[in-house]
Amino acid sequence: KDKLAESISKKKPAFSFEFYPPKTGQGVQNLYDRMDRMHSLGPEFIDITWNAGGRLSSLTTEMVNVAQSVYGLETCMHLTCTGMPKEKVDEALEAAYKAGCQNILALRGDPPREKEKWEADPNGFRYAKDLVKYIREKYGDHFDIGVAGYPEGCDDGTEPELLMQHLKEKIDAGGTFVITQMFYDVDIFLDWVQKARDIGITVPIIPGIMPIHTYAAFLRRANWTKCRIPPRWLELLEPIKNDDVAVRDIGRDLIVEMCRRILDAGIYQLHFYTMNLATATRMVLEGLDLIPSLEENLPPLPFRPSLGFNR
Ligand code: FAD
Repeated sequence: KDKLAESISKKKPAFSFEFYPPKTGQGVQNLYDRMDRMHSLGPEFIDITWNAGGRLSSLTTEMVNVAQSVYGLETCMHLTCTGMPKEKVDEALEAAYKAGCQNILALRGDPPREKEKWEADPNGFRYAKDLVKYIREKYGDHFDIGVAGYPEGCDDGTEPELLMQHLKEKIDAGGTFVITQMFYDVDIFLDWVQKARDIGITVPIIPGIMPIHTYAAFLRRANWTKCRIPPRWLELLEPIKNDDVAVRDIGRDLIVEMCRRILDAGIYQLHFYTMNLATATRMVLEGLDLIPSLEENLPPLPFRPSLGFNR
């Protein structure tokens, strides 16, 4: 099998999808159905986010298991240090290993909802790089290990040069690819990639793309991640903000244009933050002519797992 970092280095446009564990049992079932449909679009891999503690993190390992071993999707499990003593990290890695998952996105993690500031677990890890190092020590080359990159800075205001240095440390500790925070300004992203290359980061850098679902969600997510919105985007979207269909159409055109520039710059893997919704991502892929023609579609999967999610 191609290791993920190798397969995403191919000079051919490819894409991947991020999903998160839904809060309700019905939501989980709906997501499995959607994964099934999105499987036929031919993603290079899918990844599943990690929530701080509780039921939602065991749902992550469960979803990784279903995606990898039932749906046969190349799956990447996010894993964070938030509220994770070493034993819990071990359990999560063991679950991924047993599911046949060979890719981990190693993160420091957001602070839990009830806390403003992030605090290290006394028996856990402080930085993402410590987690990367630990996974390497424990599992050798079994896992490809991705890490997070921030073209427009991280939420805690660390200086850009220092943040880049910390990214380099994550790669030096054993990271094999980078997935970036969402952005809408391609110039900022390409500049940042160049800076990463200049300090010796040579692994694949995968841009995180957030499709536009509605105007309100678009603004909310951009504000939340503090990413720059090119003024022309606002000029085009603001006047039609109450017409969801028009926003999605113009939004598709803007995201397609942005992805084309990224592909033209020689970066071929696009990572979509699906927000567990298929339509906006599918529209962008159609706009980019990246969706395989019908003959190339994979056959429907033989059965859908019924895991009895009535928690
Ligand atoms: P780190 O790289 O450890 O950095 C955290 C902070 O510590 C930074 O300010 C960094 O500059 C600083 N730092 C690092 N090393 C040192 C050092 N040696 N000395 C001093 N300071 C240092 N969060 C979730 O909870 N679940 C998810 O599933 C999730 N998925 C994500 C996916 C992507 C693609 C991205 C971009 C982010 C995701 N996040 C997720 C959010 C992420 O956990 C937060 O942004 C978190 O605040 C930083 O995580 P990190 O892995 O980049 O941390």
